[in-house]
Amino acid sequence: MRAPQSLLLCAITVLMLSAQAPSAPAGTTHNGVTALALCDLPPVGPDYGHAPTFPFTMPPGAAATVDFSESGERCSVRRVDGTLYVRTVSDALGRLVMTEYFDGRGSLYQETINEYAEEDFGTADREPCSSSSWQARSQEWAFLPIQWYFNVGSILYGLNKDTTVTAARSAHAEWETNDNKCLYPDQSSIDYGYQGPTSLTVARDYQSIVDFGELTLVGCSSTAIACALGWHNSAGQRNEHDIRLDDDSGWTNRPDLDLDLFDVWNLMAHEVGHRSLFLDITDDWQVMFHGHRRDDTYKRRLSQGDAIGNNTKW
Ligand SMILES: [Zn+2]
Repeated sequence: MRAPQSLLLCAITVLMLSAQAPSAPAGTTHNGVTALALCDLPPVGPDYGHAPTFPFTMPPGAAATVDFSESGERCSVRRVDGTLYVRTVSDALGRLVMTEYFDGRGSLYQETINEYAEEDFGTADREPCSSSSWQARSQEWAFLPIQWYFNVGSILYGLNKDTTVTAARSAHAEWETNDNKCLYPDQSSIDYGYQGPTSLTVARDYQSIVDFGELTLVGCSSTAIACALGWHNSAGQRNEHDIRLDDDSGWTNRPDLDLDLFDVWNLMAHEVGHRSLFLDITDDWQVMFHGHRRDDTYKRRLSQGDAIGNNTKW
């Protein structure tokens, strides 16, 4: 009877191992500051230098869990009481795409979304009116119109300041008027109000701005070309959204002349989508497609999914 017994023990051991790791591959847990490193996060809170308006130090005893999938990786750090503290999403190439901080009730407080260059081409056969993907957050803005400023002093040497501000304003108007390639009417109530130049930079200060600058100083990825930073009030409503364009990436307002540079309006159209609470999608034919090509103006008008989403969400 020895052989059946050891078989039984073996079976029990397998069952116990399965109970500890119900999904394959198994999640990994690390404690404390190691948890932040595991999630590829700097050991600073999400307010970037200003006096913290929210108790966002690393909670003692917090633990991280990593889940892997074919499309990428999700890493979560939870407080001791089990509430979510921060979650990161990486893509299949290992790039940090999104970071979300949650308050003590598990409600979203802050988001950071990194934008990356799309190196492949294949722009010729994009069909703007043949698919209708879009994804929006459930959150709303605390107020409309959404007032925003441009740090005109940060606009890079070589870019005309007035043209650059106009490009950013055109990107906002694109969503306000639901300007799309597919003849969808404008039923969106999203509303922006440009307030003029500012010297403010990206920080939690309740002012929504656009600037050029170093991405890593505000918690964004060093290999991104731009990033979006949104904050929410205690009721879960967004009340600030900053946009930073990377000062080390090449920008232009004349992509017809400056090949291999990123068009400001094109990228800003996508960023205003995030400011309008839309999320990145993998549908190459939409403005909210996650990748950004050099020498591309495709996103200067909305596609079908963007237009439907804009009318539906707002
Ligand atoms: Zn994006």
